[in-house]
Amino acid sequence: MNDKKQFHVDWARCIPFIGIHIGIISLCFVDFSWTAVLFGIGFYCIRMLAITGFYHRYFAHRAFKTSRWFQFVGACVGNASIQRGPLWWAAHHRDHHLHSDTENDVHSPTISGFWFSHMGWFMTKEHFDLKEDRIRDFTKYPELMFITKYDTVVPALFFALCLAIGWSWPHLFPDAKGVWALTVGQMIAYSFFASTVVLYHATFCVNSLLHVWGTRPYKTADTSRNNALISIIVFGEGWHNNHHHFQSSARNGFRWWEFDPTFWALKVLSWVGIVWDLKEVPPHVIHRTADAEVDKDETTSADVHRNLPTAKTRQEESVTSEAL
Ligand SMILES: [Zn+2]
Ligand SMILES: [Zn+2]
Repeated sequence: MNDKKQFHVDWARCIPFIGIHIGIISLCFVDFSWTAVLFGIGFYCIRMLAITGFYHRYFAHRAFKTSRWFQFVGACVGNASIQRGPLWWAAHHRDHHLHSDTENDVHSPTISGFWFSHMGWFMTKEHFDLKEDRIRDFTKYPELMFITKYDTVVPALFFALCLAIGWSWPHLFPDAKGVWALTVGQMIAYSFFASTVVLYHATFCVNSLLHVWGTRPYKTADTSRNNALISIIVFGEGWHNNHHHFQSSARNGFRWWEFDPTFWALKVLSWVGIVWDLKEVPPHVIHRTADAEVDKDETTSADVHRNLPTAKTRQEESVTSEAL
């Protein structure tokens, strides 16, 4: 169990991921366009919210409830981030919480090194498969299984959307000139390639930087950290030590000044009834900081999350079996 594991990069299956990075060279061959930049920022924001709100807080942690149709909408928008399917993503993330910063953690910078935790781990043959036993509570939905199995369908549709916008813009807005003009090339360069690459590395920072850079107000059994700077680009996920302390919460920013737009977006959606039962953090959990040594027998953050066992009882058991 403690033998050093060997991982092997699956270069053939990483061609799309590498190709998207190479694609940003296209920025050198198109004129600057504010329209394309604004589309890129818009796509970044909506896809980041789907990753943080749905892939992470909903599918991995079940921090709120929603309808079947809206969970599929969230899954599809998250899938447009080109970070594989929702169930693959959430199952691996549950694995991270189950084994945080141990030899069995899929992406621990302190165990496997910074770059492996940032992007190396998901490029390896050993991490391509869906860990179905980790996510049994969602495998019963065929539509989620479909986009998880065929995880390039939604990205292809997103690419087609970018093409369609770039093609139709001059027809719809013939007076848009100069930096406000928009061509297919500009749309692909800025709004598809650049937006997706920035989205990639912002998301990956949660797995890499947020276990090495920042503060640790809570004595969790891992190296998770809070980082206000990273929280800005990952829409509230920067409060990662808070999150490891109490994983099932719909909010990672426990205090009003902890920037967490993902929670605010979920709150707005709850006001209109699209999502409901947002899990909040009990006040005594918020106030139990590093100064207050956690009683070993006391219920910890992981206990409270019904999908995940405690850090001290990390075992190979299914994360979700008890949730069903
Ligand atoms: Zn973590
Ligand atoms: Zn998490």
